Amino acid sequence: MSATLLDGKAVAARTEAELSERVAVIKAKTGQTPILATILVGDDPASATYVKMKGNACRRIGMESLAIELPASTTTRQLLGTIDELNQNPDVHGILLQHPVPSQIDERACFDQIALEKDVDGVTCLGFGRMAMGEEAYGCATPQGIMRLLEAYDIPISGKHAVVVGRSPILGKPMAMMLLGKDATVTICHSRTQNLPDLIKQADIIVGAVGRPEFIRAEWIKNGAVVVDAGYHPGGVGDIELAPLVERVAAYTPVPGGVGPMTINTLIQQTVISGERSLGQD
Ligand code: NAP
Repeated sequence: MSATLLDGKAVAARTEAELSERVAVIKAKTGQTPILATILVGDDPASATYVKMKGNACRRIGMESLAIELPASTTTRQLLGTIDELNQNPDVHGILLQHPVPSQIDERACFDQIALEKDVDGVTCLGFGRMAMGEEAYGCATPQGIMRLLEAYDIPISGKHAVVVGRSPILGKPMAMMLLGKDATVTICHSRTQNLPDLIKQADIIVGAVGRPEFIRAEWIKNGAVVVDAGYHPGGVGDIELAPLVERVAAYTPVPGGVGPMTINTLIQQTVISGERSLGQD
């Protein structure tokens, strides 16, 4: 069997072309450009790179980004104040708070300070709850990007057994709710799960969101499964041992070039949607 490569890079590039046109229409009709505000706290190099990539993606589609950099010593109160200012700034259509923030900051409180209509990264409890209930909300960017990728390749989800390994607020949990929302039967696994290999063996769709290189072994995954790997580690490997699988699964996300490009693409897509709504162009 020849597996389908779920090419996030290609889907993201196609979507960028479409988003560029939508941004041009907003500009022509309103004279305004959607703006994504990015907040980077501290000097973690990986976080700085992610924020830079998000700013670059905005510019590629003709959108602007407002980069806010705060020192590592920033307090929760100061960060809440910055988010309040961005909430009230009518020129800002989306707010991204780069995760993780330094440990003295209450990250959850800061995520939840983001106004729902500007929560284009889908990190607020309110947005999560609305999404989980099937109400309108911007999806959390990484799992929403995965759902868009599965949809782009017409991967059947309804009635399938999806096993999500990981339950973090920005990935595993919303991933599970999104798959449930598309009528999958969902098993969520985490560090206390017993018999992980046995559960994974039942998966029609397996999502690796563990944060440990090749932690999920190829031998645990059944023939014909759909394999989604959110991880990315030095050496170009993900959370799933992929090489032995490519000949015997139905579809898989490459690492890199699968989930990663879809995350940023979803963030900018949701910012464009927010810009269209706020500027009366939706
Ligand atoms: P995280 O917050 O560290 O969460 C990891 C999850 O894995 C936790 O729920 C943890 O369980 C679970 N886990 C840890 N050890 C386990 C074990 N032995 N067996 C089963 N489950 C175990 O990580 P994250 O932020 O969700 O990220 C997960 C992966 O996705 C990472 O590789 C990260 O780099 C990647 N990621 C990629 C993107 C992207 O845009 N491509 C975005 C975000 C994350 P407990 O809850 O019990 O601790």
